[in-house]
Amino acid sequence: MEKPASNNFLEAIVAEDLDSGRVTEVITRFPPEPNGYLHVGHAKSISVNFGLAETFGGRCNLRFDDTNPEKESQEYIESIKEDVRWLGYQWDGEVRFASSYFDQLYDWAVHLVEQGNAYVCDLSADEAREYRGTLTEAGRNSPYRERSVQENLDMLAGMKSGEFDEGSKVLRARIDMSAPNMNMRDPILYRIRKVPHHQTGDTWSIYPTYDFAHGQEDAIEGVTHSVCTLEFEDHRPLYNWFIEHLPVQSRPHQYEFGRLNTSYTVTSKRKLKSLVDEGAVSGWDDPRMPTIAGMRKRGFTPASIRRFCEMVGTTRSDGVVDVAMLEHAIRDDLNENAPRAMCVLNPLTVVLTDLAEDHLEQIQAPAHPSREDLGTRTLPMTREIVIDADDFREEANKKYKRLVLGKRVRLRNAYVIEADSVERDGAGNIVAVHAHTVPGTLGENPQDGIKPKGVIHWVSATHGARAEVRVYDRLFNDEAPDKGGSDFMDKINPDSLQIVVDAFIEPSLAQALPEQGFQFEREGYFVADRYEYSAERPVFNRTISLRDTWSANNPG
Ligand code: ATP
Ligand code: MG
Repeated sequence: MEKPASNNFLEAIVAEDLDSGRVTEVITRFPPEPNGYLHVGHAKSISVNFGLAETFGGRCNLRFDDTNPEKESQEYIESIKEDVRWLGYQWDGEVRFASSYFDQLYDWAVHLVEQGNAYVCDLSADEAREYRGTLTEAGRNSPYRERSVQENLDMLAGMKSGEFDEGSKVLRARIDMSAPNMNMRDPILYRIRKVPHHQTGDTWSIYPTYDFAHGQEDAIEGVTHSVCTLEFEDHRPLYNWFIEHLPVQSRPHQYEFGRLNTSYTVTSKRKLKSLVDEGAVSGWDDPRMPTIAGMRKRGFTPASIRRFCEMVGTTRSDGVVDVAMLEHAIRDDLNENAPRAMCVLNPLTVVLTDLAEDHLEQIQAPAHPSREDLGTRTLPMTREIVIDADDFREEANKKYKRLVLGKRVRLRNAYVIEADSVERDGAGNIVAVHAHTVPGTLGENPQDGIKPKGVIHWVSATHGARAEVRVYDRLFNDEAPDKGGSDFMDKINPDSLQIVVDAFIEPSLAQALPEQGFQFEREGYFVADRYEYSAERPVFNRTISLRDTWSANNPG
């Protein structure tokens, strides 16, 4: 799974720009709109932008593209800052806001009007659509296109001071209504929107469009490589047109790469927001969400997400990446770094009848099979222990390698035991298994040569602690939940969350730190919940099961 030499075409472009002297320093930016939490696709964009700066000793800005105040909020701004830092990146200087350039952008709009390159248009949205033409048919000039410079200046000032109603006028660039690229057909620069803005308050009643704002912001910040996703490719001529027609201080260039999409996932802030708003998940940071905050609560590590972004590469084609590859990245990280521990999810009492009531033996076990630096843990062995109910059967065939009446099994890190009988309640349900330890089997095979077939996990019933374990699975049970505009709400996996309220954990797990990840032996990888875990009430979330389907299909 070594990274091929160049799975990021942008690195070659930047290297050449530095070689040829087109740029002397690399400045990139990550420009989220604060209208939702960041998702795995944004993690890709973050790793590309911050990664280029890191690789070439440059700088990367965090700039909020806050030109749509209605949908934006301070909560989103804070979450985005936290997510970027958590992923391990630090932006250059203070965070930046498109809104802090509103005065400059307005002055540039005035400049375009003065040069005869922009005009105020009174067409309604419907009329404008009709005038715009189609992909195969040229558009027609707006009847307002020939307004005088002075009239346009007056009207633009009127738009700014709130004189006109929303929707009654827009400012448009005066380019070419017959351009084959629809983006060049006199695009809109400003709309009237009488809404307060989270940063600028009531100052503005007009707001710039993405197209009029983005390149100019890049120019103001001296961005050298403005990296975005492929859907903006057709906007590049417009991006360049503004840069050419304005007295900007620098000349940024736009580059596009393919969006990252993963299977079994929706990654559109609008759709993620509806999952939250409709209560399908507990919030933006629900561990089933593909948001960075959700993945974090689920127990993903920054390193695993960065590694995944690296593995998928940076190319000029859109495609869907198997979500199993993301799952592989976290499994790989935790396999190497997570301490091992035992947790019984579905407890069944086993009474070891040969041990005294007050038997207490402190068994030392390694925290990790190959990482001595992670130390050891203490497992109290007592007369009563719990095992998983699925690990016991009264009788079974040879394929069943767990505990069976009259047969042996090894308790992980401890003795071999042999089951003797079951204890039932009035209704005939098994409430306990009676068993005995096989002497001399701590770290040794039985002397009588009768080896157990399997190993099961266990916890002392008297020295273990109770825990709540939330077993998460994929949120959707369909590979492409929103394909062809289908309703992803219908594709929600009804088993994506199972809450186990009375799991039993070994004592070391009652001293975890919030966000610490573990392998629960034979069960999977779990994380101490970021907010709800405490020693008194331990809460764990399942990050991922042990079985790796991606790696099985992608050997080597
Ligand atoms: P969405 O469509 O998911 O709501 P967006 O593109 O509207 O996302 P922005 O806040 O505008 O979200 O995105 C910030 C940056 O992240 C942009 O440069 C955008 O191109 C990039 N980005 C967004 N989604 C992806 C993705 N799936 N893969 C790679 N980059 C992405
Ligand atoms: Mg966007």
